[in-house]
Amino acid sequence: MKYTVLGSGSCVPDPKKNSSGGLLEAGGVLILVDCGPGVLHAIPRSGYDYTQIDAVCLTHLHLDHVNDFGALLFATNHDPECKREKELVVLAPIGFSQFYKNLKQLYAGTIEPSFDVIIHEMGNGEFDYGDIQIQTLQTFHTDNSIGFRFTYHDKVVCISGDTGYNENIVTLCKNADLAVLECSFPQKQESSIHLNPKLISKILSKAYVNEVVLTHLYPHTEDFPIIELIVQDYDGEITIAKVGKTYYT
Ligand SMILES: [Zn+2]
Ligand SMILES: [Zn+2]
Repeated sequence: MKYTVLGSGSCVPDPKKNSSGGLLEAGGVLILVDCGPGVLHAIPRSGYDYTQIDAVCLTHLHLDHVNDFGALLFATNHDPECKREKELVVLAPIGFSQFYKNLKQLYAGTIEPSFDVIIHEMGNGEFDYGDIQIQTLQTFHTDNSIGFRFTYHDKVVCISGDTGYNENIVTLCKNADLAVLECSFPQKQESSIHLNPKLISKILSKAYVNEVVLTHLYPHTEDFPIIELIVQDYDGEITIAKVGKTYYT
């Protein structure tokens, strides 16, 4: 599996990075995981074709994770080069169908796609797309937020989305080859709905992850020694997500 970072920031404008999102590729399937502002335009910069996305997985409906979903549909309608006919599968939290209905109403036909959008609302569940097994578990962030675990053959990639510490995130990460974990805040900043180095260390001590990529850092978080604090308890590979970089399992 390949995971390419399209955005690694939070909701706060940041000169170095846009909001969250990434592309997972495995077995000829292309899955967009979250699409915050800036993610759509980052797709071609990373060498991918946005019209070829097979599925979109959304962790929650905060704007910094979902804003470019409407922009994606708008683009397919107004891009003279876009000839997309294949359906788009969307795995999203409970409530997304209503959100999508409202969004289409708000934009009065301009984002009504010419292809089918097949929505699967997910809580704690499983879904197969091609040869990829997708597991979702509820996270501690919004009422219906979810994290994703993708399994392709013997490889596992976990994407936390925004979350506080909870056992579900440990389960999603268990023995993963790659875990893309949010690290919104520095050590001194505690939150029940976001992670910091201390909480990430706690997850990693239980989950046995091979490689960790930290994402969703608020701008001020980068001023603190995030990695140094985590590696005191973790001996796998760990880096801060770099927009445009591809991670391989
Ligand atoms: Zn966020
Ligand atoms: Zn959020």
